[in-house]
Amino acid sequence: MSKWSINDARDLYGVQRWGNGYFDINDDGEAVVLLRDGEKEVPVSLQQIIEGLKERGSAMPQLLRFRDLLDRRIEHLNESFRSAISETSYQGEYRGVYPIKVNQQQQVIEEISEFGKKYHYGLEAGSKPELIAALAYMHDPNAYLICNGYKDDEFIDLALRAVEMGIRVILVLEMPSELMAIIERSKALGIRPELGIRFRLSTKSEGHWAESGGDRSVFGLNSSQLIDAVDLLKAEGYLDCLKLFHYHQGSQLPNMRAIREAATEAVQVFVNLAQEGAPMEILDMGGGLAVDYDGSHSNFHSSCNYTLKEYASNLIEVVQKHCDLADIPHPTLVTESGRAIVAYYSVLIFNILDVTKFSHPEEPDAPEKDAHEMLHNLWEIRNRIKVKNLQECFNDALFYRDQVRDLFRLGFVNLRERSIAEKIYWYLCTTIATQTAELEHVPEDLQTLESNLIDFYYANFSVFQSLPDAWAIQQLFPIMPIHKLDQEPTERAILADITCDCDGKIDRFIDQDKVSTYLRVHKREAHEEYNIGAFLVGAYQETLGDLHNLLGDPHVVSVSMENGQLTYTHEVEGDTVADVLSYVEYSPKDLEKRFRGFAENAVQKGTISAKQRKIIMEAYKAGLHGYTYYED
Ligand SMILES: *Cc1c(COP(=O)(O)O)cnc(C)c1O
Repeated sequence: MSKWSINDARDLYGVQRWGNGYFDINDDGEAVVLLRDGEKEVPVSLQQIIEGLKERGSAMPQLLRFRDLLDRRIEHLNESFRSAISETSYQGEYRGVYPIKVNQQQQVIEEISEFGKKYHYGLEAGSKPELIAALAYMHDPNAYLICNGYKDDEFIDLALRAVEMGIRVILVLEMPSELMAIIERSKALGIRPELGIRFRLSTKSEGHWAESGGDRSVFGLNSSQLIDAVDLLKAEGYLDCLKLFHYHQGSQLPNMRAIREAATEAVQVFVNLAQEGAPMEILDMGGGLAVDYDGSHSNFHSSCNYTLKEYASNLIEVVQKHCDLADIPHPTLVTESGRAIVAYYSVLIFNILDVTKFSHPEEPDAPEKDAHEMLHNLWEIRNRIKVKNLQECFNDALFYRDQVRDLFRLGFVNLRERSIAEKIYWYLCTTIATQTAELEHVPEDLQTLESNLIDFYYANFSVFQSLPDAWAIQQLFPIMPIHKLDQEPTERAILADITCDCDGKIDRFIDQDKVSTYLRVHKREAHEEYNIGAFLVGAYQETLGDLHNLLGDPHVVSVSMENGQLTYTHEVEGDTVADVLSYVEYSPKDLEKRFRGFAENAVQKGTISAKQRKIIMEAYKAGLHGYTYYED
């Protein structure tokens, strides 16, 4: 066997396949993020970042955000469209918008409006709160603010007032009934709106979100509703306000062919609207630009079979072709790419608290001489195990173990003996399972045997709070240790979180050509620091999360390189116990008062002393104002 190298770790965890040039492993075996510092690109070790945070007194788990990766994604998206446009004779421009719902954190919107300035990059709002947040960041009169979602009069009025101020707010009709409401408010305020229509494509898409496009989509107008809307716009004298056509095929679209098909249908509708006499200017192709989470570059749902460059040039080509055929001017292209912009931005780092080992059990002691015969039979098996007779040995082990269990029920074997038998059984199973690797065909019984030998690594985080899609829709995220990668990870583990929920675990991991049921990890000595990163968690994970078991937001910090210096900014302390309790309507003050009452009662009764009351109350208060996660 050759020695383990960094390249083996790169290969095993696929970091160069999914890392997109942003993540890698350094010679010290630590995961790095590549951050720009002026003209240079510097590898920054995640383990070093964590050590810096620990020195500053901040505990695990930590959500790390990298502003530079957000900047680079915006640049990459916009430059991809720019270069695709410059390589053809396309006459229009690209002007993307960021859909706020994908990561609504103020810091994200602020950085997007800063980094996107040079591209007139705008925002997409799908609700009233998102509109209100977006309006405060629309400093560029050339950027769009696209309003999808349901709109009440308050929403419409605010949007119209913003149009009056010179902001390019475009109200997109999601439902036929919205049109009359907008026309009425427009007449009442004397402000002409800029309008768009969302269309329900009939083209089928693939992946988790297939239903959010297509005929059964809850959003958008079908073709007859669309024609009715055009007729109403004509009748009311508002057709000149209709400038944008929108569709959204769904999120994480893995297959370029399906994207092209949908785009083709959409351009035809766009052309028809122009032919109806609407001054069509903008074609908004929605979200869906996928992230290659597993690095397989395939049409599997956690991947995609195209690059951003290919995405841009395919869309441009389809739009150009069909507009040219109809002799319609090329529109300004908009995409509402969310996931592809923010996924890389955040990494969640958590530590391992404890391990339950199922693999490599120590060789058990031989049963006592006078132990029941069945125990001796079980013990004998270990001398017989050969690659040739694995199935037979397994059958025997199972048989004698069950015999011992039966004898226990009848009172012929005591608990201590039974425990020895179980230990021997596990030991035999492990030995058998490790040898199955040498079999050409692994019998079914022995396959499941192998999966029983996966260790539990207890991880200091909550799946429900920090990786909700891993639980809700079985989404795969790249996960790997952030240090010790210069050593071979000899163990196989699933990650169990600290919620008391049997769903609070991660047991599906990326693998190049399959989904793995375990993660390869390093052997961890008791109390040894062992940190694992879940990567590409910037999209959707932060605010979809919930307070299962009252585990709150983790600490967040933004990390960048400035003048050769690692800088920590935008530190946000995670929820305290008092915070999460008040989210579910407790009053921390009241809790403290009640508990103090119990403690005082105990003093009165003489159960504890007044001094002990002081210590207990201090512990209670420290807990109340501490982090919701496990602290050392
Ligand atoms: C969710 C959503 C998006 C973002 O989709 P991504 O797949 O994250 O790019 C864009 N537009 C609309 C209308 C959406 O609902």
